[in-house]
Amino acid sequence: MIAGSALGVATGNPIGAFLVGTASHIVLDQIPHTDPGIFLKNNELKVWPKWIYYFAYLDILAGVTVVLILASQTNSSNWLNLFAGAFGGIFLDLLDNVPYWSKKFRKTIIGQSIHAFHDKFHFTVDSQHLIWGILTQIIVVIGGLWYLLQNL
Ligand SMILES: [Zn+2]
Repeated sequence: MIAGSALGVATGNPIGAFLVGTASHIVLDQIPHTDPGIFLKNNELKVWPKWIYYFAYLDILAGVTVVLILASQTNSSNWLNLFAGAFGGIFLDLLDNVPYWSKKFRKTIIGQSIHAFHDKFHFTVDSQHLIWGILTQIIVVIGGLWYLLQNL
């Protein structure tokens, strides 16, 4: 979300922001990272326990809060690029990884190919190495915030 916002602002237009935000997700998913899914490895059905729901809500809430704070610090001409980039950054996960509709989505032809594509480049660390996966995310978030603070 933060990386998408930064790239979105860099493109300077909302359509570019959305596309580059989505592309950034594809690139960043390939960098080893930690997500709650690493604790589901032996869970065939990938059923989310309750804590993962809480974690996911908190994650999105934190992202939205930061983006709104950033928006409040800049003039409205940047808002659309900021939001479109942030939205692009989570778009694939929203389509493919939200348990309320992901099963249905993956049954459609488009959903099936998007899921196969998404799954192919998704690179998470295993649970013993979660600290490294968190570190790569911190670096990305700090990089994104650093860029945004200079360019908003
Ligand atoms: Zn993803």
